[in-house]
Amino acid sequence: MANVYREQFVSSRGNEYFCEIDEDYLTDRFNLTGLNTEVPYYQYALDLVTDVFDLDADDDLREQIEKSARHLYGLVHARYITTTRGLAKMLDKYKRHDFGKCPRVFCEGHPLLPMGQHDIPNTSTVKLYCPKCEDTYNPKSSRHATIDGAYFGTSFHSILFQVYPALNPEKSRRRYEPRVYGFKVHAAAALARWQDKQREALQSRLRGFGIEHRYIEDTEVEEDEFDDDDDDDTEQLEQSQQPEGADVSRGVADAEPGRMDIFN
Ligand SMILES: [Zn+2]
Repeated sequence: MANVYREQFVSSRGNEYFCEIDEDYLTDRFNLTGLNTEVPYYQYALDLVTDVFDLDADDDLREQIEKSARHLYGLVHARYITTTRGLAKMLDKYKRHDFGKCPRVFCEGHPLLPMGQHDIPNTSTVKLYCPKCEDTYNPKSSRHATIDGAYFGTSFHSILFQVYPALNPEKSRRRYEPRVYGFKVHAAAALARWQDKQREALQSRLRGFGIEHRYIEDTEVEEDEFDDDDDDDTEQLEQSQQPEGADVSRGVADAEPGRMDIFN
């Protein structure tokens, strides 16, 4: 049987982030565990998604079943895209830049991946993750900005790079350096020096464990004006070792006292 519903679903405007779920996956009850309590009109919704829907429903009921079918598709999608087959499909879309490109200047249009901040539906909308700067962004289009983040989940983008580690982009030390008429802004320059020191300390700590962490700039000849800069990557690594609230990269005021003296 032709997969009419799913084909139409993934090709309709606003659904560009979704891949087509295999029929085999959808018809295996094991994969749908727990969703019958999550989705109203569950059986009708499933029939609609699998193209066996056969009910003479009035417009009102039909509309509600269609809404449920969309919700069901989304929830199954979050599970499907962490399977081998689903990962491969999403990888193709990532390579085609279906999820857009990172807006950060130094990421040079690196492709993004969709992600959820929560796995529970109706909590937050879909966000986009850039593996190069390891930051998250809001979708540009309002059609995408309203999609439930739980349809992609919190783990998919990380699983993708665990399964395809070679695709993880090389980290860069390049970052924007604020200047006023050519002179470095003092506080920013002091913060940059502190971050440089932290990065070097982290690199030598890693070296102590036998891990050699390299940046793009360590292997390439850098010819642009920003080449003496720090990176965002170390901040991310550093942050992951600190308790929440000690966000050194974003809020100077939030940093623990004594951890960073940027004013000397
Ligand atoms: Zn980026």
